[in-house]
Amino acid sequence: MINKERLLANLNAMQTISTIEGVPGINRIAFTDEDWQGRNYLIKQLKELGLSLRIDDFGNVIGRYEGYNPNAPAIMMGSHTDSVPQGGNYDGLAGIVAALEVISDLKESKETPEHPLDIVLFMCEESSRFGSATLGSQAMRGQLSRERLQTLRDKKGLSLYEVLKERGFNPDTIPHAKFTTPLKAFLELHIEQGIVLEKTNHTIGIVTGIAAPTRYKVHIHGTAGHSGATPMNHRHDGLCAAAEIILAAERIAQNSKPIPVVATVGVIEAAPGAMNVIPGEVTLGLDIRSISAEAKTRATQDILQAISEVGHQREIPIDTTLIADEMPLMVKDSMIKAMETVAQAKQYNYMTLPSGAGHDAMNWGDYTDVGMIFIPCRAGVSHNPAEAIDIQDLVTGTKYLKDLILYLDQQ
Ligand SMILES: [Zn+2]
Repeated sequence: MINKERLLANLNAMQTISTIEGVPGINRIAFTDEDWQGRNYLIKQLKELGLSLRIDDFGNVIGRYEGYNPNAPAIMMGSHTDSVPQGGNYDGLAGIVAALEVISDLKESKETPEHPLDIVLFMCEESSRFGSATLGSQAMRGQLSRERLQTLRDKKGLSLYEVLKERGFNPDTIPHAKFTTPLKAFLELHIEQGIVLEKTNHTIGIVTGIAAPTRYKVHIHGTAGHSGATPMNHRHDGLCAAAEIILAAERIAQNSKPIPVVATVGVIEAAPGAMNVIPGEVTLGLDIRSISAEAKTRATQDILQAISEVGHQREIPIDTTLIADEMPLMVKDSMIKAMETVAQAKQYNYMTLPSGAGHDAMNWGDYTDVGMIFIPCRAGVSHNPAEAIDIQDLVTGTKYLKDLILYLDQQ
């Protein structure tokens, strides 16, 4: 039986570790002491379950529960251990405590699958510290170079390279972190971080695809000037150009069909920032997402074209810097079908839906079959101290994860 008390005990222990006096919410910011204490607690749980452990050069942890066929590829499950600053206790951790519970339950009922089961603890999924997301799984996929580790820096100026060294890893061997063991599937359970499941009264979300961001910094080189003395027809107002760009991004995303695209300008910095000065230098942060790489590329090209037209019409030089360009994931039809078969056979209250947020799972689509399960979170709130779940939904999600593993094991 999936044991609610055991799930709660692990969640509560991690909550205690990640609470800093005087700071709201959960604070397991990647590679900080709280993150590391949480990781140590989870490693202890993996050991107590008798799993054999492997730790890679980035600190990711993989625990293996042997199946009866040692040559079969493993079914891997897991999620990330870190949180955003002042976050909630369920983003990432829900998927790990569910994976631990699946193994506890299998051991108790003396069920041995044919395939080995791997539990993975991904490090540094959140972009809050180093400005880039899912770094642990990127390291496992061999996508992190030594140079990138030196470029990625936190607010204090510490590079990821230095931080890894401080934690006792050798960042020079980061290419060795590449995961090469064959997998049959990778499954990630995660809170939805949206309101769809709750609004429609569903307990299980079968994810059809994961949107991934493409991000640009847009540098608008307008001309600052006296706001009283400069006539309207002699201005090169950087902020007016920015306004047109923001609305163009909104319009292009709104018109994207049939696959939706979302585009957001969430950052705007205007210099010099005075009431009596026409804005000159303006920097925008632009974020474009879709579950379809093709739809995202098309919208991105249209937005870049619109930016260049605004610059041309207003005679303002504008340049763009690509910050991130991550591949979205479309879940394979065969996996969605398997997940629906299990949900129907055992009468789970489920629906299919896309994920607007990025997840570690999106890095694994070209390595193995990926399946992602959502459970509801209250009012869709996440990355916030108010993040909450109904523990019964996590129990149901964990049961479903186990049923899905046992089904895939027989395929
Ligand atoms: Zn997460």
